[in-house]
Amino acid sequence: MDLKKYVRDIPDFPEEGISFKDITPLLQDANALASAADALFELIKNKKVDKVVGMESRGFFFAPLLATRLKAGFVPVRKRGKLPHQIISEPYALEYGTDVLEIHVDSILKGEKVLIHDDVLATGGTAKAVCKLIEKLGGEVIQCNFLLELKFLKGRDKLSGYAVEALIQY
Ligand code: AMP
Repeated sequence: MDLKKYVRDIPDFPEEGISFKDITPLLQDANALASAADALFELIKNKKVDKVVGMESRGFFFAPLLATRLKAGFVPVRKRGKLPHQIISEPYALEYGTDVLEIHVDSILKGEKVLIHDDVLATGGTAKAVCKLIEKLGGEVIQCNFLLELKFLKGRDKLSGYAVEALIQY
């Protein structure tokens, strides 16, 4: 199935100059949703995974679906101040300035194998920060997988040393 047909470009969202990749058409189509979940699972199905980490907020759509298929747990990484229990945090770059991502300290055990999932790989700054959080807890990042990759932003360069997979390239 050509999943690209179910991704629409929204010009100047959330601000001028950004072409936003909107995946809601893909999510709301039963066949496209199932096909994307199957294809994301195919990218990782031969590896052992203990936890799937999804990034707030669009990483939450597919990460738990992948986790149930992999018989792994799901762990949310959230923006500042959202997680209620004890956390560790890591700064990441935004268009202007920085913010922090947070994870619960007891969410990943030492030596656990972790798949990271998000909807879009852009500059790679978000995924890199998530890799650092997982490694601080003693986890091992075995793959970063994405629905879409914006190749011109060279996110893979920032994630060198990690296995990076994406279903759709722009
Ligand atoms: P980055 O840290 O630059 O790789 O940005 C990745 C995060 O920003 C992901 O969580 C994406 O959901 C979001 N993102 C960045 N650029 C876009 C875009 N053009 N369209 C949709 N989401 C984007």
